[in-house]
Amino acid sequence: MTEKFNIAVFQGDGIGPEIMAPTVEILDRMAKVSGSYSLQFNEAPAGAAHYAKTGESLPAASMKVAHDADAILLSAMGLPEVRYEDGTEISPQIELRKALKLFAGVRPVTVRKGQRTPLHMPAGKEIDFVLIRESTEGLFFSQGCGEVSENEARETLVITREVSEKLFTFAFDLAKTRKTAGRGPGRVTCVDKANVFRAFAFFRDLFDKEAARHPDLIADHAYVDATALWMVQKPWDFDVLVTENMFGDILSDLGAGLMGGLGLAPSADIGLDNAVFQPCHGSAPDIAGQGIANPFAMLLSAAMMLDWLGLRHENAAMRRDGDRLREAVEDVVAQAQALTRDLGGTAGTRQAAEAIENALFVK
Ligand code: NAD
Repeated sequence: MTEKFNIAVFQGDGIGPEIMAPTVEILDRMAKVSGSYSLQFNEAPAGAAHYAKTGESLPAASMKVAHDADAILLSAMGLPEVRYEDGTEISPQIELRKALKLFAGVRPVTVRKGQRTPLHMPAGKEIDFVLIRESTEGLFFSQGCGEVSENEARETLVITREVSEKLFTFAFDLAKTRKTAGRGPGRVTCVDKANVFRAFAFFRDLFDKEAARHPDLIADHAYVDATALWMVQKPWDFDVLVTENMFGDILSDLGAGLMGGLGLAPSADIGLDNAVFQPCHGSAPDIAGQGIANPFAMLLSAAMMLDWLGLRHENAAMRRDGDRLREAVEDVVAQAQALTRDLGGTAGTRQAAEAIENALFVK
């Protein structure tokens, strides 16, 4: 029987609609060719341009579409010149993360043979690890509520047992899935600063308790400063890294740098009941409307969505399509075909997306 999934689609701002259009087209075609699942795409208007037009950045109706969806696809939101009265930017993607309790920010870092990277890669080595950034608390807990007086400023870091336990369960489950798929040795590394801060000793203790439940997997620890060094010196040694919000925020951009830039960096924000799949980059207003945006990070995020839905609903065809889409992007990049300008090529968005369609559907 064909299983049907509702996908909420946030087209977003700037280059958002340009990279979303080919992504939805490719996903729809994959589902039709497979015949084992079908995708119903439901538009959810939101973002800076929507706010400028209507005074609402994330309408309740769009929030409901997101809440009720099986998965959420989001391109990018925000425009630097559109702001609330307090001077901050319109960021519905952050509101969604908080409202839907999406605690696990999943940031895969992959560098395949042939892919451009600023690293000097030893022969035969590839990079394939996942950084999990806790996304609802940590140093972002007091976001917007920090205390500032004339001589002092304070922000509060909060780490809770409830969220940390869910986070570590998620990390070990992911390591197990990757090990089963032959993508890693089944190792989870807790990245913290437990040598200095009691909050991180608490974080590490909760990690160790979860690790004890997984004798089939390897668990270890690393300090965040050393992790930054090793991400440059020997990133091929990592499998699954799990860390606090602010540390993860910084390390995930380092990961994007290893991959040759934001144009190839996908992400997912996952909770117990909902998940948002979106590229790591923003709305790139400097190139919007020119047809030159790189759609690959959006497509890789869509591949993560197929994988997540397939695993959750035990739909093997969907998981296979997730792998096929990721591998199609990796192959096109490795062969330096149809690369957009940010990757050193001359292709436009349409041409880059067509190269993926050809890799997927033309024998
Ligand atoms: P950005 O990621 O949009 O752009 C940084 C640089 O990377 C720009 O030169 C841009 O042209 C380039 N770039 C980004 N994505 C690209 C792509 N797919 N193809 C080719 N080039 C690409 O970051 P920014 O300029 O700091 O932010 C622009 C807006 O996006 C801001 O309003 C910001 O708040 C918002 N933003 C949104 C998200 C999100 O929705 N998750 C994330 C970051 C920034």
